[in-house]
Amino acid sequence: MTEELFREDARLLQCEATVVGSGEQGVVLDRTVFYPLGGGQAGDAGVLVLADGRQVAVADTRKGAQPGEIAHVLAQPADQALLTPGLRVTARIDPARRQAHMRFHTATHLLCALVPHPVDGCSITAGYARLDFHMNEPLDKAALSAGIARLVAEAHPVRHRWISEAELDANPQLVRSMSVQPPRGLGRVRVLEIEGVDLQPCGGTHVANTSEIGQVIVTKIEKKSAMTRRVVLGFAGPA
Ligand SMILES: [Zn+2]
Repeated sequence: MTEELFREDARLLQCEATVVGSGEQGVVLDRTVFYPLGGGQAGDAGVLVLADGRQVAVADTRKGAQPGEIAHVLAQPADQALLTPGLRVTARIDPARRQAHMRFHTATHLLCALVPHPVDGCSITAGYARLDFHMNEPLDKAALSAGIARLVAEAHPVRHRWISEAELDANPQLVRSMSVQPPRGLGRVRVLEIEGVDLQPCGGTHVANTSEIGQVIVTKIEKKSAMTRRVVLGFAGPA
């Protein structure tokens, strides 16, 4: 099991950790600030800093082969030889890439609040985010951009908490996404609340207040199928 420090504090940019394994899929640490690809959100990139100051580049982060394991995918697979089990490293994420993920990810929650239809697909990267809604009504690009700008300007606090699976079962309306069901079997589920706006199970990383999303607009609306409308978000203006 890798201790997932990013679940409790998305603002942590680095941590001390010990290498516990290293294989084709990547390097596994005992704890990490690197978010692995999942729930639609891209994995983190960054570096593992060795005791002598050398930096090993991490190109991406994925869930590992074993449940609960996180694999740091090295940019140069040959660097694996440097990372033997027991070695102490500093794991440091690329802050700009993470910040973009957090801003877009939180903006997708605002979009969920503005479009009251089930979500059947989601992708969040540093360059754009997209959300697929199960619906056939038309959507208005300018109105959605204005709605996001309003919720950003209103500066709603964003926070997570853990609820029991029984509490989730008693409130099935909390699950907005048709394609991504919250992970089961752990006894508890992480929910993300944007005060007064949105509440849903989510394990991703988010900004702490909607004001930190900044200028995010709808760049495209596509009809992907008879019952799917895809909304694409992009950054506008200075970050
Ligand atoms: Zn989320």
